[in-house]
Amino acid sequence: MTPKIAIIGEGVIGCSTALQVAQAVPDARVTVLSDRPFEQTCSFGPAGLFRIDDIANREFGKSTFDWFAHLHRTEKGDKTGVKLLSGHIQSDSKERLEQQQKAYGDIVYNFRFLEKREILDLFPNPSEHCIHYTAFASEGNKYVPYLKFQCQARGVEFLHRKVRDLEEGEQCCNRLGEAGKPLGSGNYGCRPERYFGKIRCTASGYEGAKNLRGVVRAQTSSEDYSD
Ligand SMILES: Cc1cc2nc3c(=O)[nH]c(=O)nc-3n(C[C@H](O)[C@H](O)[C@H](O)COP(=O)(O)OP(=O)(O)OC[C@H]3O[C@@H](n4cnc5c(N)ncnc54)[C@H](O)[C@@H]3O)c2cc1C
Repeated sequence: MTPKIAIIGEGVIGCSTALQVAQAVPDARVTVLSDRPFEQTCSFGPAGLFRIDDIANREFGKSTFDWFAHLHRTEKGDKTGVKLLSGHIQSDSKERLEQQQKAYGDIVYNFRFLEKREILDLFPNPSEHCIHYTAFASEGNKYVPYLKFQCQARGVEFLHRKVRDLEEGEQCCNRLGEAGKPLGSGNYGCRPERYFGKIRCTASGYEGAKNLRGVVRAQTSSEDYSD
C-alpha cells in the first residue's frame, strides 16, 4: 500500500519535513497543505546565523550544520539562500558564552573568545566578553522556495487548503508555526512533537527550527507500513 502523508504548513519546517519524508519514504504520496501564501508565513523573512542555545539540541544542530555545509559546497548561494558568515555574540557573563562554546564551539568554524583590544575596536558599547565564529545563515525567502523545488522534483504535492481538524489526515506531520497553536501544535511549531499515524517526525529542535535550520529527521521502519 502506498503511504499517504499530509504535512501541514509550507514554511521552513513543513518544507524541511516534506523533503526528509520524501527522501526517507520515496514511494509515499506526500502532500503539503497551507492556508496562506508563503510571503505571509513567518519563514519568509528571517536569516539568522547558526547557533544552538540549548545543548540538548547539539546532535540536531550538528546534522543541520552538516546539511548546510553540503548545500554550500554543492549549490550556488543565490539559489539556496545559504551563505557563510562571521558573527559575534557579546555578554557580560563569561559563563553564558562558555555554554555556547560547549554547545557548538567545535561544530562551527573559527570559534574563539575575542581579546579585549578586539572588543574595544569593534563595538561602541561593548560587553565584557565576546565570542567570534563563522557559520552558515540561510535567507528564508530563498531557502524555503529551494526546499519546495526539491520537494516538487520528488513528486511532493503542494495544496492551498486550511486544515480544521488534525484527524483529517491519514498520516500527518504538523509543523504549523505560530498559526498552529489553535490546532494544538507544539510550542511555536518548532519542537519535535507529534506522532501521527505511522510516521514519526523529529524536528531539529526548537533552536534549530528557530534559526531556520529546519533539518527534520523522519524515522521510519518497515513495520511502520506493515498494514
Ligand atoms: C519577527 C520575526 C523575526 C524572526 N527572525 C528570525 C531570524 O532572524 N532568524 C531565524 O532563524 N528565525 C527568525 N524568526 C523565527 C522563524 O521565522 C520561525 O521560527 C520559523 O520561520 C517558523 O517556521 P514554521 O515553518 O514553523 O512556521 P511558518 O513559517 O509560520 O509556517 C506556518 C505554515 O503553516 C500553515 N498553516 C498554519 N495553520 C494552518 C492550517 N490550519 N491549515 C493549513 N495550513 C496552516 C501556514 O499556511 C504556513 O504555511 C523570526 C520570527 C519572527 C516572528
